[in-house]
Amino acid sequence: MHSDGYIGVMSETPLDLVVRGGTVINPASGLHREADVAVLGGRVVAIGDGFRDVPARRTIDAMGCLVVPGLIDLHAHVYASVTPLSVDPDPLAARSGTSTHVDAGSAGAATFDGFRRFIVAESRSRVLAFLNISVIGLAAMPECGYGRFVDANECLRVAEANRDVIVGIKIRASRNAIGEDNTAEPVRHAVAVARAAGMPVMMHLGDPPPTFEDGLAQLRAGDIVTHAWKGQPITRLVERDGSVKPEVRAARDRGVLFDIGHGSGSFNWGVAKQLASHDFWPDTISTDVHTASIRPPVSIDMPSAMTRLWHLGMALDDVVAAATSRPAGAIGWGDRIGSLAPGQLADIAILEVSHDPVTITDSYGVAERVERSLVARTTIVGGAVLERAPA
Ligand SMILES: [Zn+2]
Repeated sequence: MHSDGYIGVMSETPLDLVVRGGTVINPASGLHREADVAVLGGRVVAIGDGFRDVPARRTIDAMGCLVVPGLIDLHAHVYASVTPLSVDPDPLAARSGTSTHVDAGSAGAATFDGFRRFIVAESRSRVLAFLNISVIGLAAMPECGYGRFVDANECLRVAEANRDVIVGIKIRASRNAIGEDNTAEPVRHAVAVARAAGMPVMMHLGDPPPTFEDGLAQLRAGDIVTHAWKGQPITRLVERDGSVKPEVRAARDRGVLFDIGHGSGSFNWGVAKQLASHDFWPDTISTDVHTASIRPPVSIDMPSAMTRLWHLGMALDDVVAAATSRPAGAIGWGDRIGSLAPGQLADIAILEVSHDPVTITDSYGVAERVERSLVARTTIVGGAVLERAPA
């Protein structure tokens, strides 16, 4: 008999939920073995096999499946009906094992109140946000409006007033965000707000201006570069010869995090293979899910994004960490989500490993045959199963 967690006082109290018989991978504790996960009052109360006789209101058989912390998508767009690219979080969460979407700048200071009322409060899945440095968020582009819509004071005020939801500041370091005649100035504003708020910046790597080097140079330990596996020659992480750019090595050495942010324009099999050959793996795996990337041929979701990195040779436990404990840590939520340790919120993903070969297309139309893939079976948020919409 062995359990992580205290079960004695509860032996008279039925558990709310037991996820039974799966292979639990909990990167935060290094656990990777068959075990049951017990849930009571919306939290994980024990992991192990010492509570087989404790009654439970609901039991889910996870035999043959992986049981991992609920997936955390660090780069999603879920301000549906307000920004043109956004999707509804709950149906996506239910079918993808994703218990938490972190919206990447769809809302800005002027539009955040609606995001909070109509998306965060109305969703059964967890929704957090990076607040755009532009006050209009992604309501229209270029969202920084040649600098006119960048308001560092307003951004900081709204971030401070909503710290329970806002976990960082978003800037798209890109020509189509800032405007052709501008520089890295909006990136500096985003970094200044983030520093004042004690939050990370998430910087989107895009077409210059600003240049790759100008943008990256602004980032500090804990800041996040998203769309980092893209293929455009000027913004990719690798040199012409396939080696990792020295600026990228230096940024990682000082603690900057590199995120996938797959989307419909930001994951390239060729660059990914070059990075893998140098053992350069993402800190976090995210989707940049939006109305285009969610559809074929890319069809991105969290299990599919994780499958791509697993296929490239990233160790399974690292793949799971990059989709759970590491994004939780990156946004300062590691004490609540991203782990199955007792006391954590009971966000759980049950995944199957499929051995049916599939063809996976990157953001550049290149197809790759993949022999095994992760497929979501069940999403649990705060101990409650998110039921899937009928197909
Ligand atoms: Zn995005």
